[in-house]
Amino acid sequence: MSVTSAEEMFTRELFKRYEVNKKYLIPKTQYYDIIDSIKSAAAGANKRSRNDYYLMSRYDVLLCGDVWKLIKKRNIPDETPLYFVTIEDTFDVIKRAHVSTGHGGRDRMLKEVQKKYANVTTAALELFKSLCEECQKKRKRPMTKGVVVRPILSKDLTSRGQVDLIDMQAMAHRNFKWIMVYQDHFTKFCVLRPLTTKRATEVAMHLLDIFLLFGAPAILQSDNGSEFTSHVITELKAVWPDLTIVHGKPRHPQSQGSVERANGDLKDMLIAWLADNNTQDWTAGIKFVQFQKNSAYHSGIKCSPYSAMFGCEARVGLTSSSLPQEVISRLESETDLLAATENVSPETLLNLRS
Ligand SMILES: [Zn+2]
Repeated sequence: MSVTSAEEMFTRELFKRYEVNKKYLIPKTQYYDIIDSIKSAAAGANKRSRNDYYLMSRYDVLLCGDVWKLIKKRNIPDETPLYFVTIEDTFDVIKRAHVSTGHGGRDRMLKEVQKKYANVTTAALELFKSLCEECQKKRKRPMTKGVVVRPILSKDLTSRGQVDLIDMQAMAHRNFKWIMVYQDHFTKFCVLRPLTTKRATEVAMHLLDIFLLFGAPAILQSDNGSEFTSHVITELKAVWPDLTIVHGKPRHPQSQGSVERANGDLKDMLIAWLADNNTQDWTAGIKFVQFQKNSAYHSGIKCSPYSAMFGCEARVGLTSSSLPQEVISRLESETDLLAATENVSPETLLNLRS
């Protein structure tokens, strides 16, 4: 199935659903009709009809540069706008959310699209997911074994870190054969690094870099066992004498399962990224997967690991701003940016800068 036909199937199906329920889905023609109705009702030239009042209770319009957009009626005048998306544009909107969350599932995608759009339904997200070729391939791959368990919660902030190695010897890239996965237990924030060996010296060198950026945990643990962890700690202490860190107890076989699942998930995200980008360079891919994983909603902590760590959501330049996508894609200079935001209220502009 080619990409075009997936989009066609998706859009055709949404039009079918629109015939049954007109509440959330908006065809492009209707979208512009609503904008015109609201603009003329707001101008107050004619007596407002019952339909005008209905539309004005639900929608608002926003001029961004030279483009009029339909947005959700705001309770507070300068709230960040939530855009309505037309049936024709829904595929692209969901695709961006799907790819940026590392082929995320329904809930992860929902959290992502809700940042900017008012009318993307879970049914549309499920439909999209069922049409994604990479996600269908993943379903056919054998599941990483593991049992369902509650996540390990550490009460003390950043007190416990986990370092694991994913074996990539079967697809070595240049000299790299392993992926080091470091995860902070409290925030779930993870850092991925390519390794040439699984030696303690190499692992310690990367951990040192991470610890000097985010701070070091009190306890370090690993699925490679406490002997491995002790070696790593000894190496760390040799370069950072002030650092005292203990190795964790071997964990329950249950929590073992949840880590295996998490690392299996990382590998699936990486495989999807390599396919999407048509490359075998997983040493580059892990940087993107790391960002996807950290910026996507995590159900265990009810927010993204990035926001748990830094207190705000991860930004992707202007892509994360409240400007509509079609305006963003035309911007090149700061002058363009100022022109595009000329008609936007100062408060919206603040959102853009924050
Ligand atoms: Zn997918």
